[in-house]
Amino acid sequence: MERKMYLKIRENFLWGQKGSERKLALISWEKLCRPKSAGGVGLRDLNAFNKALLAKLCWLLITNPNSFVATILKAKSYPRSNIWDAMVPNNSSYTWRSILSVRELLQSGTRWVIGNESVVADWRTSEEDSWDEKALNVLLTEQEFVAIKNCTLAESSQDDFLSWKYKKIGEFAVRSAYHYEMQSKYGTIGSSDLENHRWLWNKIWKAEAPEKVKNLVRRAISNGLTTMVNLADRGINVHRLCPRCGEGYETVLHMMLSCRESTILWHLSPIRLELNDWPPDLFEWCYTFARSCLIKKSWETTMMFMWKVWCMGNIWVFEKKKVDPVLACQRTMNYLGEFEMAAVREDAPKPAAIQIIQKWQPPERSLDKLNTDATMNAEEKVGLGMVIRNDVGDVLISAGRPICGIIPAIQAEAEAVLFGLKYAYEAGLRSLEVETDCLNFADLLQSRARMRTPTQVIVNDIFDIARSFDFCCFRFASRKCNNVAHNLAKKAIHLDQMIL
Ligand SMILES: [Zn+2]
Repeated sequence: MERKMYLKIRENFLWGQKGSERKLALISWEKLCRPKSAGGVGLRDLNAFNKALLAKLCWLLITNPNSFVATILKAKSYPRSNIWDAMVPNNSSYTWRSILSVRELLQSGTRWVIGNESVVADWRTSEEDSWDEKALNVLLTEQEFVAIKNCTLAESSQDDFLSWKYKKIGEFAVRSAYHYEMQSKYGTIGSSDLENHRWLWNKIWKAEAPEKVKNLVRRAISNGLTTMVNLADRGINVHRLCPRCGEGYETVLHMMLSCRESTILWHLSPIRLELNDWPPDLFEWCYTFARSCLIKKSWETTMMFMWKVWCMGNIWVFEKKKVDPVLACQRTMNYLGEFEMAAVREDAPKPAAIQIIQKWQPPERSLDKLNTDATMNAEEKVGLGMVIRNDVGDVLISAGRPICGIIPAIQAEAEAVLFGLKYAYEAGLRSLEVETDCLNFADLLQSRARMRTPTQVIVNDIFDIARSFDFCCFRFASRKCNNVAHNLAKKAIHLDQMIL
């Protein structure tokens, strides 16, 4: 009721009304609520917003089944089933009816991440901790079967959990649900665009990076770089195709991230991009990526590499020269290091942020050091590599192993760390320093943030094993310090089974 009245007041405010005489509405209310990008003025669509809030409530009921409200509602409304299957009886309350009405929104926006103490336990064999292929074969299509077989199964005891698809960390957020609801209503991105812009702008200005890097990133996300597509759009007679790879139109997104030539540098960098799902534009991508960076350094490094990618593109176009990507990666890392050192010197009391060390360093006395890496080749085959060395640099164990299935790069890095930790434990080592050359994954381990994604299942397993060590810490090491693990991973891609 209140919502209806509020809507009325807002309508009147916009269109004006004197007594009972109504002015003519020139534009429909629905149209005004549309996001600016869809021709509206981006007023908040209260219906969609209300739905998003209800979805949050529903999400809380599902993810906190032991909360006070959830227990009461369950006892009253669905004692023998769950919220997904709960019926809507004729005499149910308005609130309850409203909550259940958003199940569809929630269902299409979520997925389950499978743990170990799982609702799908029947589909798994007890001996080997793997899927019961016979049982699955009967139930599923070929495609579903393959997809499920590729799911990572937890080894430590973990529950299944719900993951919200529209947030990188998998946690439900009203804003993204509103976005999503608006998107399904109008087919474009919602009106909080402006807020997102402001957020990302801040993230760029406040980054500790050289001004020219900030400027470049700002221009890139506002589509202000000279690319073939932008030139053609401005009426210049050029071909839209990317001059470097010739495989797609040269948009800013292509130039920065998805061009074959650019991905080479990204692969060498300590940042792992998920290179399969491309958003509509660079802004969207930067926004989502920056949100997923838990530590400032990840985002700053990403900005630096965006700048380098752009420089490499320019050198190619204007000087017809190809820059060696390995060298380019090295220079970027050095530049980053130098910049941080300089920044530290300026405001002296701060301790040195990071040093870019270019060579593998032995661990402290009486510790051993595990280096891990995952690599992916063009056919999306994944190899894991690990090496353990002691405090004088002698190799204790080294191994590599291929894994099947297409998985996101960061998940592969997680698999590599888990692979290495297991070996270390079995070999009886109990004091370990673990290094990965994936900056965003190191962030994840160090910050101990919980995500609602499949990678979290592996992270939980990692911490589970780590607890059995007397000492175990995780840190980032540059690719150069991680050469041995990297080469092992590269070799492992072509193997059928593990090498030791
Ligand atoms: Zn290209």
